[in-house]
Amino acid sequence: MDRSTELQDSYGRRIRDLRISVTDRCQFRCFYCLPNGEPAMAKKDTLLTFEEIAYVSDIFISLGIEKIRLTGGEPMLRRGLETLVGSLAKLKNGTDSAFKDLALTTNGFKMPEMAAELKSLGLDRVTISLDSLDRDNFVDITGVDKLDEVLAAIKAAKSAGLEPVKVNAVVVRGRNDHELVDFARFALSEGISMRLIEFMPLDSGHEWKREMVVPGREMFETINATIPLSLKSESRGASTAWNYGFQESGRGEIGIIAPVTEMFCGACSRIRLTADGQIRTCLFSNVEHNLRDVVRSGASRAEIVDYIRGVTLTKEASHHINDSDFVQPERTMSFIGG
Ligand code: SAM
Ligand code: SF4
Repeated sequence: MDRSTELQDSYGRRIRDLRISVTDRCQFRCFYCLPNGEPAMAKKDTLLTFEEIAYVSDIFISLGIEKIRLTGGEPMLRRGLETLVGSLAKLKNGTDSAFKDLALTTNGFKMPEMAAELKSLGLDRVTISLDSLDRDNFVDITGVDKLDEVLAAIKAAKSAGLEPVKVNAVVVRGRNDHELVDFARFALSEGISMRLIEFMPLDSGHEWKREMVVPGREMFETINATIPLSLKSESRGASTAWNYGFQESGRGEIGIIAPVTEMFCGACSRIRLTADGQIRTCLFSNVEHNLRDVVRSGASRAEIVDYIRGVTLTKEASHHINDSDFVQPERTMSFIGG
């Protein structure tokens, strides 16, 4: 690919990773995301259609996007998701395309019945959320009694070959930090990558408090004291996680994602598209850019490219969670897409 066409922000960061939210809806009520239920549903005609998502994805790919992750809300609630997966997967075949990785983040809903089909349509891998291994605590955190279903989803994803299967847990003080070692044992026994994420101020309840954040360093130390870990690479590149293997076994992995206490904005390669077609240049942006209206205005492909390039140049240098004047974005994680 011609490097001069690649998408870059004004700090010289190359943008390679597009996260697309396909719906704001969710049937879980994770307290750190959507504790109070959903706000009024977006009108259907404000949502990008699958054709529009595929069209803009093709344009992003022509600008050097290498990875696309479908997320939400709960992406598996969007009817016909498999059609979208099929059309995006076809974009991997372009001769000059750097796009090689199509992933999905899900709470696991419908995974057992859809895993094989999604794999055959060209989905490469999945990340599944699992915030507790204890049934009562799972209900307490997510608002739904679905631990067994999520465990079944992880198994289904593995047997369909949607690997490496990653499993996300948002670790919150007093809620599931007592399960850190259990998460590590689970990663080890299942041979999966367990990703432990600091709680970020993106909850719809606006109840985030700094005291609720379990620092990544503490997560590492707690696990390492019982199950020794070894850092896999001295650099995390554009990745959000520090990845650790287990000294006692080659199976499984722990990824620690610490956006609050160890900011990784300097190497950020991500850009986001909301279900209603707004580009967000950062999880914590307070502005959005209306790509949907540009596309629907009849703009030419070249005009859309110019628009995307211009928006990318406004990408923030970093988030400001740790500043005293930090303002939590109006839209929450379930809208933005994690
Ligand atoms: N519903 C899907 C799921 O839960 O995997 C996809 C969307 S969810 C918003 C994507 C990821 O964001 C999940 O792994 C979730 O745990 C994480 N997340 C949501 N709210 C968060 C918060 N306030 N801080 C950190 N991570 C959060
Ligand atoms: Fe739903 Fe995912 Fe948010 Fe939980 S984290 S409420 S599953 S969108």
